[in-house]
Amino acid sequence: MPECIFCRIARGAQACTKVYEDDSVLAFMDFKPITKGHILIISKKHAELLTELDDNQAADMIVVAKKVGLALKKSKLNCHAINYILSDGAEAGQNIFHAHMHVIPRYRGDGFGLRMPERDEEEEDEKRLERTAIKIRKFMERRADS
Ligand SMILES: [Zn+2]
Repeated sequence: MPECIFCRIARGAQACTKVYEDDSVLAFMDFKPITKGHILIISKKHAELLTELDDNQAADMIVVAKKVGLALKKSKLNCHAINYILSDGAEAGQNIFHAHMHVIPRYRGDGFGLRMPERDEEEEDEKRLERTAIKIRKFMERRADS
């Protein structure tokens, strides 16, 4: 298997336009930006999915995403809002299988949008929500620091 593109970028074998870097995380300009200022955040350690990262690596990505967001808001790009998007798995739209988060500055009328399917007006029955929550809760792990 050839090394994945984000691993190549993380170790400097493939050029990128860096925005931020530390021991754990790299943030760089998307090569094909959806909007001006579109940034990708990757963990330097290869993991296909967010759920395969250790807690510290996942947290590091979020902390850097927040810092990138603050920098975008202070910048002269004048974006109005930001989408933070992490697609975990092919069916979710992931196409590079090294966990990454898109930070996409939004501008009025930029033409980009997330499509949510039509949903029923009626709220889901509370008992059905509870049955679904039970299936999830039994696999929930406590946070290491709580
Ligand atoms: Zn990789």
